[in-house]
Amino acid sequence: MTHQHHPQQLPQENFSEQKEMFRVIFEHSPAAITVADANERIVTWNRMAEKMLGMSKKELFNRPVHEFFPVEEWERLRSLNIRKKGMQSDIMTKVICHDGTTLDVNASITVLKDSKGEIIGSICILNDLTQSKVVEKELVQAKLVAEEANHAKSVFLAKMSHEVRTPMNAIIGMIDLTLDTSLSEEQKDNLVVAKDSAQNLLSLINDILDLSRAEAGKVVIEEMEIQVADIVKNVCKGLAVLARSKQIDLVWTIDPKLPRVLIGDAVRLRQILMNLVNNAIKFTHQGKVEARVHVESLSEDDCVVKFEIVDQGIGIPKKNIETVFDVFTEAHNTTARRYGGTGLGLAICKKLVEMMRGQLWVDSVEGQGSTFCFTIIFGYKPHAISTVQDKTGQNVSVALPEEVKHLRILVAEDNLINQKITVKILEKFGWQSTAVINGQEVLDILLKQSFDVILMDDQMPVLDGVATTQVIRREEKQTGMHVPIIAMTANAMSGDRERYLTSGMDGYVSKPIERTVLYNEIVTLVSQRMKN
Ligand code: ADP
Repeated sequence: MTHQHHPQQLPQENFSEQKEMFRVIFEHSPAAITVADANERIVTWNRMAEKMLGMSKKELFNRPVHEFFPVEEWERLRSLNIRKKGMQSDIMTKVICHDGTTLDVNASITVLKDSKGEIIGSICILNDLTQSKVVEKELVQAKLVAEEANHAKSVFLAKMSHEVRTPMNAIIGMIDLTLDTSLSEEQKDNLVVAKDSAQNLLSLINDILDLSRAEAGKVVIEEMEIQVADIVKNVCKGLAVLARSKQIDLVWTIDPKLPRVLIGDAVRLRQILMNLVNNAIKFTHQGKVEARVHVESLSEDDCVVKFEIVDQGIGIPKKNIETVFDVFTEAHNTTARRYGGTGLGLAICKKLVEMMRGQLWVDSVEGQGSTFCFTIIFGYKPHAISTVQDKTGQNVSVALPEEVKHLRILVAEDNLINQKITVKILEKFGWQSTAVINGQEVLDILLKQSFDVILMDDQMPVLDGVATTQVIRREEKQTGMHVPIIAMTANAMSGDRERYLTSGMDGYVSKPIERTVLYNEIVTLVSQRMKN
């Protein structure tokens, strides 16, 4: 038996029933309804009209329609040509109430015509918008307050993380130095654990600092000439050791159409790639990780590049695909501890990619692998000449090259603990160092003595690092000399490398100072100078 649906019959047959039905609808409508005659005077209205306008039957009856509207609103209504069109709905306008106040309303007006097409009147339906306007205002206000609070949070976090980094420098540096002294096995083990924890804490702080800076709008995306292919290669080469230790193949393929030089932010691109390739290796137990670079489009001044990081790892459960880009989320809650990590990396990457006019997304099948894709729109000048050199040699050779065996290094640093650590690190490499506490002292000592390298803190009292460098470079114009200056700064996360370089410095190391990084920076710079 088929089941048939019989709609309830409306009371159509009986005219008086029908009339009663419409009367009820009319009277109980939550909208104010007024009906005017051919002379544009009110003849009929419902209860809501009396209520909304605050008018009695006497005041409403025979009232000219135009009296309900402020003059300019009436003119606007006239200009809508409703008489010609027949109707117009959703008109945002105002009506004047009995007490002279005006009310924001949404009006719909329909013109009534007889069978010959003559206008015999009009119906106006009005909805009071005051309440929704109030709610809207409150919502906008609430949104502003929330945004302000969120901004304040980001600023606070950025500031706090920055402050925490400085003492972390001392903690890690001191542990390092103590590890180099003669210790019992037990002491050594304890210190290694302490250093590990300190380093984990530092990477968490770095991530928080980075994310909050991005959220507070404090990250400036640099626009420099960069070599994208080299950046991808270097990131992969840097992580090859990690991949090899897990017996995973790490390969990269680069679109031959990729221009050698593009305009963009090398530091940020490197950071995103590091994060994604590192994750891909981390969550893969066997097989291959591949980084692919593909040119999506190339125009007069833009180049859209798509990066894909493909892995054959554990994948991401479908229900978590959306949330992996949120802060502090891990796709596999139960296994999160096994893999380590802060749960902030992808959130940072997403923010950075968006700041570079791109998008970041993931395709993944649980148990089979993930593909993280992102696009970046780089600037492109067809005839740009490369001026950027990659200075980060990764390997530290044990024997010092002849030309850098005996260096005299000036350390300008106002924090005495950091100064001591830096001096000790330099001593380990067999270099002589002299320490001063501000830029003025740098200038004073340079009058008496020359150095092979200057390590320059950026924030110092009396004269800061950048200003000091500028004075030195100005004076060198007369002598034709050029002493390599390396910035040492806690502003590590702001992608400031290029800023220091343009101010006249030659290199850059971030605090807490990593021995090998400092070593590489010094050796690279000095060898370069020797060659020139
Ligand atoms: P974490 O520091 O925890 O790795 P991320 O923000 O980088 O933080 O990643 C968030 C989560 O997304 C990870 O904990 C992991 O569950 C998931 N994830 C990221 N990359 C991959 C990947 N290549 N394969 C599988 N899961 C991944």
